[in-house]
Parts: sequence; structure tokens; C-alpha cells
Amino acid sequence: GRRGGATEPRHRVFVSARVRPVLAGEVALHVNQRKAVQADFVRNVVSVWLPPSSRFSQTPEKTKRKTFQFDQVFDGSATQGQVFNAVAAPIVDAVLQGMNGCLLAYGQTGAGKTFTTFGPPRARGKTDSMTTQLGLIPRAAQALFQRLDDKVDSTRAAMRRQRLRQGGEGRGFSYAMYITYYQIYLDSHIQDLFEPGKRDLQIRLNEDSSRTTHQVDGLSVHRVTCVSDVLALLDKGERNKVVSQTAMNATSSRSHCVFTIQLVQHVHREGELFTLRSKMTCVDLAGSERVNRTHPQGLQLAEAKSINRSLSALGNVIAALSTPGQTLSGSSSLDESEQSEGFIPWRDSKLTRVLQESLDGTAQVSLVINVSPDAVNVQESINSLLFGRRSM
Ligand code: ADP
Ligand code: MG
Repeated sequence: GRRGGATEPRHRVFVSARVRPVLAGEVALHVNQRKAVQADFVRNVVSVWLPPSSRFSQTPEKTKRKTFQFDQVFDGSATQGQVFNAVAAPIVDAVLQGMNGCLLAYGQTGAGKTFTTFGPPRARGKTDSMTTQLGLIPRAAQALFQRLDDKVDSTRAAMRRQRLRQGGEGRGFSYAMYITYYQIYLDSHIQDLFEPGKRDLQIRLNEDSSRTTHQVDGLSVHRVTCVSDVLALLDKGERNKVVSQTAMNATSSRSHCVFTIQLVQHVHREGELFTLRSKMTCVDLAGSERVNRTHPQGLQLAEAKSINRSLSALGNVIAALSTPGQTLSGSSSLDESEQSEGFIPWRDSKLTRVLQESLDGTAQVSLVINVSPDAVNVQESINSLLFGRRSM
């Protein structure tokens, strides 16, 4: 549905689920001869078969099935290109039109978030060619460059024709693209992945626009002019991620990684200059799994708590964005005025603060729920699928 309220149109969040294939070395576990997790990409439904509660039960128990409907469902045979077309291409369109877009990958560690957003490690390292395995970010950059360069070429050709005819000033088009890449760890440390030695970055309020948004201060911004620039930067960021996580003694997949493509388009028309600014944000979220069933301590416990807190803040924000005119309860710091219709609890975590600009207003939002096909992970898969349903 659309957002309630007369002033600001409410948009819906596009929610998809991708069940990754069973990997080499993994065993596809079955519950009563059925695959534990099934993705039906025709009806866009994911079915999860719950194992019987006790394996040693005397009477044979019936297996239970839970089903979850999404805007789009992908099974293990889905290609990176198919996922891009359904999930990210509409965001590319929006960004070209000057709107912001946001792509979020959610799921437990090992479910395929990084594969979906960036691609497998080897494809990421290949800076010279587009391999079929590249993920959504390089594909989005590729699509943007293609459309923008086409526009530059066709505008140039039109200008040449016009000049020949009347010798006057016609239209011109140019653009510039910039990239930032950072991670948020323990919902308190914001680290630039291009400048790993630098101290933590802070969030500041940006009040130049008509509404107040949050921004990361002092982030390094890198101009890119082709896809291989983007791939080289992704690779650099990837190496720094490993270095900084080791330095913090953090386990992998415990931070949210935020990659942005900022676009500035200049249109010259009859001697006037129009500038259009937009941004595409892609987030490889920290693993959503409930940590260590036994006795988590120290850093592990702190990581688990902060990830839980920030992911549930994100869930509340997205639910508020996609609920028409609904008052959101259960947020930590609501006063009477904030209880009003359409209040969105941006301030409940650093993650939601830095994403405000990318999720709010006319921004196009696409959430991918990544799911493991393994019966061992059924409970985590259900949790992830429920997060996706709450976001619709
Ligand atoms: P996460 O980032 O959620 O922890 P990864 O993206 O690292 O998970 O995926 C875990 C493993 O599964 C990796 O080896 C990755 O290459 C592989 N994988 C994930 N999704 C797919 C897929 N759709 N096709 C093939 N391999 C995949
Ligand atoms: Mg990952």
C-alpha cells in the first residue's frame, strides 16, 4: 500500500527471499523425504518444514509446514542476473531519476548475503571482466554507467545536429559518480573501509535540506568512472574489512557493511544548469542469528546484543515505512508529539540513523531475505522469513 498522510506519499518496501543452493560438502537434510526449505518462484512462496519436536517420539508425529509469501522468491537456480533484474533494476531506474534507493540483505551468517550483494570472492577480485557471478552492487554500477554514458552520447549527437542547423547553444548532459564504503560495528564504531587506520567516524545532523537527516561525517569519497574502478574499490574495502575486524578481535559477519553510490547529474539547457543528486545505498547486514545457544560471554555477547538491537530497530523502521498511517508502539523514546501518525523511529540505532536518508521520503527500498536450505538452520530461516513478512 501507499504511505498514509496527505503530505508525504508512503511507499511500499519490495521484499524478496532467496534460498541459496546446497553447497558442495553440505548435505541436504530432509524432513520426511521432503526438502526442509522449498522456494516456489512461480507462486513466490517459501515453505519451511519443521522437524518433529522429538526424534525419539513413540508415535510418529506429523510434520508441520509454514509458508511465507513475498513479492518475489528465488530458489537455488536463480542467477545473479535474474536477482538483479527483479530486485535492483527498479532502484537503478529511481536513482537515475534523482531519487534515493536502498538495497538491504538480511539473514543468518552463511545464508548468502555477501554473495548476493557483492558476489563470490573470486569474482570480486577480477577487475577486468564482468563475470556471471558478480553481485548486485557491481551490476548496479554497470547498469548506471551504461545508461548514463548512453545519455551523454545521445545528448552530444543531438547538440551536434542542432549546432549544424542553427549554430546555437543546445542541451548538454554530464555526470559524476562517487563511492563510499564503511562498516558499523557494535552499533557504535563507524569505520571507513577505505581508510582503515582512521579513528571512528561520527554521525552529525544534516539540516540544510527541508528536513533533518543524519549523515556520517568525514567519510572518504571516491570518484569512479567505470565498472573496474568500482570493482577495484570493492576489493580494497574487502581487504580492509578483514584487517580491521582482526584488529578489533571481532568475528566475521558481525558488522553492518554499507556501500553507497552517489550520483550527480548536470543538465545544461538553454544556458541554464540543473543539478540532480541521488544516492544508492547497499547494506550487507550483520548475521541475524541468535548467538551461541550455550554461554556467550564478553565480546560475543556484546556483539549479539548490539546486532539484535540494531536489526530490530531496522525492522521497526521498515515496518513503519510500509504500514499506511499506523502508529508504531514499542519504541524506546516516544513523547506525545512523536506518537503521531507515521512516526518513524530513526533514532533507535546508529544503523537506522545512517540509513534515514536512503529509506525515507521517495526512496525506493528493496529487502532481500537470504535463507539457507539446510534443515539444521530451520529456526533461523523462519526468524529471517518473519522479519521479511513484517517488512511488507
Ligand atoms: P553470508 O554473507 O550471508 O554470511 P555468504 O554470501 O558468504 O553468506 O555465502 C555463504 C557461502 O555460500 C559462500 O561460500 C557463498 O559463495 C555461497 N553462496 C551463497 N549464495 C550462493 C548462491 N546463490 N549460489 C552459489 N553459492 C552461494
Ligand atoms: Mg557475509
